[in-house]
Amino acid sequence: MSKTVTDNTLQAIISHAKEYGFVFPSSEIYDGLSAVYDYGPYGAQLKKNIRDYWWKSMTQMNDNIVGIDAAIFMHPTTWKASGHVDSFSDPLIDNKDSKKRYRVDHLIEAHADKLNEEAAKAADGGAALRDRAMKLLADMDTLLANDDFAGLGALIQDHKIQCSVSGTSNWTEIRQFNLMFSTELGSVAEDANTIYLRPETAQGIFVNFLNVQKTARMKIPFGIAQTGKAFRNEIVARQFIFRMREFEQMEMQFFVKPGTQKEWYEHWKNERMNWHLSLGIAADKYRFHDHVKLAHYADAALDIEYEFPFGFKEVEGIHSRTDYDLTRHQEFSKKKLQYFDTEINQHYVPYVIETSIGLDRMFLLILSNAYEEEQIQKEDGTTDARVVLHLPAKLAPIKLAVLPLTKKDGLPELAKALMDECKPSFHCFFEEKDAIGKRYRRQDAIGTPFCVTIDHQTKEDNTVTVRFRDSMQQERIPMSEVKALVLKHIA
Ligand code: ATP
Repeated sequence: MSKTVTDNTLQAIISHAKEYGFVFPSSEIYDGLSAVYDYGPYGAQLKKNIRDYWWKSMTQMNDNIVGIDAAIFMHPTTWKASGHVDSFSDPLIDNKDSKKRYRVDHLIEAHADKLNEEAAKAADGGAALRDRAMKLLADMDTLLANDDFAGLGALIQDHKIQCSVSGTSNWTEIRQFNLMFSTELGSVAEDANTIYLRPETAQGIFVNFLNVQKTARMKIPFGIAQTGKAFRNEIVARQFIFRMREFEQMEMQFFVKPGTQKEWYEHWKNERMNWHLSLGIAADKYRFHDHVKLAHYADAALDIEYEFPFGFKEVEGIHSRTDYDLTRHQEFSKKKLQYFDTEINQHYVPYVIETSIGLDRMFLLILSNAYEEEQIQKEDGTTDARVVLHLPAKLAPIKLAVLPLTKKDGLPELAKALMDECKPSFHCFFEEKDAIGKRYRRQDAIGTPFCVTIDHQTKEDNTVTVRFRDSMQQERIPMSEVKALVLKHIA
């Protein structure tokens, strides 16, 4: 039997995610809401498993990291102190003919992609086109780093970059747009205060720095981890759950002694990459991307990028945030946010290394990496096809499917007994309808790593057939060993 991959496009993944209950457009009966999505039964479980895997790796496997769960709403001054009110914005440009709005960096990057595509097809090898694309991106980085909007506008005109809808280069000036959603706290309009839906979970950690340090008696270096919803009014929201307006982050702030931030930055850069690789994903699907333009709070920053079906893109950020956040919260709250280091008998404001990963983006990564359309060449010369999700067993929503061969002769009862034995330890799925091959295919499509078939021989010698998702190999083993086999793989 041989396998070949036939398709791995984002569109196929989106359809599959919907058809098999992973991800639905939000409020779909009303035609959906742009860049907002709901997770279905298998999606919610897969998402929870990813979150739990991250949470365990942070808070259980590190003695010096503890978790919190801060509220989404925060005192509005938080966002003044953090700099989000003044500078959490993207440069935007509108096409006057189509009225379509673009993020300037996305517009320029798309043009560079187009040049590279033309280069790939060019008869002369396309070196000149590739150079042009590279220079365009380098120029953009420099201009963005200097907030030089006039220069960016000129760059767009010089390259004759056009709107994909109108096909014209009739552009407005570039301006900034704040990405925070605001709402009002209080029932009487006149007394209401404008508050924001948090655009990142990190600030909930910073404002609780002393509460956590004191109550959990943490000594520097130590970390505080948190998972939770964040909201951004993204201008260009496409590519499915890659860029959403409501999403979930998994963030950890690691507080260190000033002067040691470089070594901890390296430490967390490597730790986080190892976490990704621990899921069995090929190393060449990942790369680091050092930031040229540093955020207002950072002295070093990089992205961990993954090769999504639409190219290498950020999945996680590692940021050396200096003492910026704690110092600003000290200033704005007039409360001391310092640590007394007994080793050197000194107070100081700690420096911070942040690891920040999007749970939904990680979900898309896992799904993209797992999705495969296989053509199966059988030994008798015929071909077959299947769609399979090669999910890591520890993340799969269902670990074991228990399938009685027929609905009679006491086989469902035996299957139910196995379900009862395994259910308390991991998610199982029982199904007695349809031919066994069809049932296997359905489990392949949701990524179930193991199927067990109960047949007439089971009644005689208590053995079952285990079928492995990836190899499709089958093996006869005692029913009493099934639970241990699954546990071994998901440990
Ligand atoms: P991008 O450049 O893609 O907009 P960012 O640099 O603004 O992302 P950060 O502020 O560093 O992102 O956020 C940390 C992580 O949160 C990102 O690496 C990403 O995984 C996730 N994230 C950020 N914005 C979104 C979004 N709109 N939808 C889904 N995930 C997001």
